[in-house]
Amino acid sequence: MSQFLECRSCGEKIEFRPETVCPTCFSPLEVVYDYEALRNTLQHSDIEGRPGTMWRYQELLPEVPGGIPDTPVGWTPLIRARRLGEALNMPNLYIKNDAVNFPSLSFKDRVVSVALAKAVDFGFRTIGCASTGNLANAVGAQASMLGLKSVILIPQGLEQQKILASACYNTQVIKVAGSYDDVNRLCTELAYREGIGIVNVNLRPFYAEGSKTVGFEITEQLGWTLPDQVVVPMAGGSLISKVGKAFRELIQVGLVGEKPAKLFGAQATGCAPISTLVKTSADELVPVKPDTIVKSLAIGTPADGRKAADSIHQSGGWAEDVSDEETVEGIALLAETEGIFTETAGGVTVAVAGKLLKQGRLDRRALTVLCITGNGLKTADLMEYKAADLAVIEPKYSAFQAYINSQQKEEKEHYVSAC
Ligand SMILES: *Cc1c(COP(=O)(O)O)cnc(C)c1O
Ligand SMILES: [Zn+2]
Repeated sequence: MSQFLECRSCGEKIEFRPETVCPTCFSPLEVVYDYEALRNTLQHSDIEGRPGTMWRYQELLPEVPGGIPDTPVGWTPLIRARRLGEALNMPNLYIKNDAVNFPSLSFKDRVVSVALAKAVDFGFRTIGCASTGNLANAVGAQASMLGLKSVILIPQGLEQQKILASACYNTQVIKVAGSYDDVNRLCTELAYREGIGIVNVNLRPFYAEGSKTVGFEITEQLGWTLPDQVVVPMAGGSLISKVGKAFRELIQVGLVGEKPAKLFGAQATGCAPISTLVKTSADELVPVKPDTIVKSLAIGTPADGRKAADSIHQSGGWAEDVSDEETVEGIALLAETEGIFTETAGGVTVAVAGKLLKQGRLDRRALTVLCITGNGLKTADLMEYKAADLAVIEPKYSAFQAYINSQQKEEKEHYVSAC
């Protein structure tokens, strides 16, 4: 057995099966690999010769006996962010852009690709999820693609765009009168009583491995170099922990040299249990009741909160949180400088990067990657102020000129009064 599930706490090893926690001590389970065997065999060229999808790292993803999926998920652009870098005074800044991931425009397509491959492997007929929105989109899209039955449970009060997009697929969307944590508890019960493959419950150890591909891709796209610093948004805390795991694995199997890569976590102040844990170094995470426009990160009891905080501390990084206003400013800044329209989680990431810079926690000159994880069209309503008082003109050249002149005059007056 070259891959198995291992308990993070007592070390018990079990064969792959749909399971969330260790049967002995109820701690989370983690997929582990035979790194020694890979160290002597896996080469850059093996990976580089494969199709541009997240499955190019198949040796470091859960085995799929039926064959890896051929859906082109992942391998999203890594962009040199020169203009945002100028605005923030960071000359060595990059953006990993999962806002354009396939098929549903968020990083969640990665975790769902792995979860559904294993769900098919385990023989589940129906799959499902508890979601803050993006996961619902990803499960709906990929379940439809594979012809699987699916049921999606969401807290009521999510963004209408995300609900609509989920409902368009061949799936059943159910709104629950409660918070994400209530939905998650219900899904845990469904997994065991109804035998449903819930991607982030009984398929969670496999699901979570999909997040590592963000770290693998960043490193390969930098020419097989680890970044010095990454800024990652946190909801349940899985993505940031797995980006850390990805970097360690690449070192372990010899695909990159040893180097410290600092993890920086980003949350919204209205739901910041993990960044609070990082900042206070408390023993236990304190659950919160979310109150923020950043719905995609609004998990008050994050399943991997402790692990995320530990990964951040061990890497030498830090975490911060920003207000809803700062989030909207972050969305606008990224759009205006890089032409990338992100959702609230991306606004949080950009704003937290700015805040950490001011604090001197982020090194200005270091090679830094911001993980942009979702698409702005899903939370576009928040940006309404940008288009609130757009002019309408007659379809005539003179009207255009008159409008432009009035604009310039206004700008000039603005300028004069500012002096
Ligand atoms: C789910 C999500 C995250 C964070 O995911 P976790 O692994 O739960 O921390 C980040 N960004 C977006 C857009 C998400 O939907
Ligand atoms: Zn255990």
